[in-house]
Amino acid sequence: MVRVRMADPYLVAKLVRGDEDRIRHCVGLGYCFDRVNQGKAAVCGQIAATGREAKVPRLIAKADRIKKVVVVGGGPGGYPCGAL
Ligand code: SF4
Repeated sequence: MVRVRMADPYLVAKLVRGDEDRIRHCVGLGYCFDRVNQGKAAVCGQIAATGREAKVPRLIAKADRIKKVVVVGGGPGGYPCGAL
């Protein structure tokens, strides 16, 4: 359950309000515990904000103005890490 909560600390809140489709699942990469076993901070290989909250906010405020954007590529940069 720890990795599940690392991947999405808002899991319970999303379940309570019926937003199961927005839950970000741990995919079992094992990157987090590999890092801990190396004496490093537990960060997630899938969710950019996990373990990096001081630099990468989990929640991103809505922009004042709506714009059309294109995200090129994948990985953490293309993942909606602020989805609460
Ligand atoms: S690094 Fe992998 S195993 Fe650890 S929480 Fe993230 S997705 Fe899950």
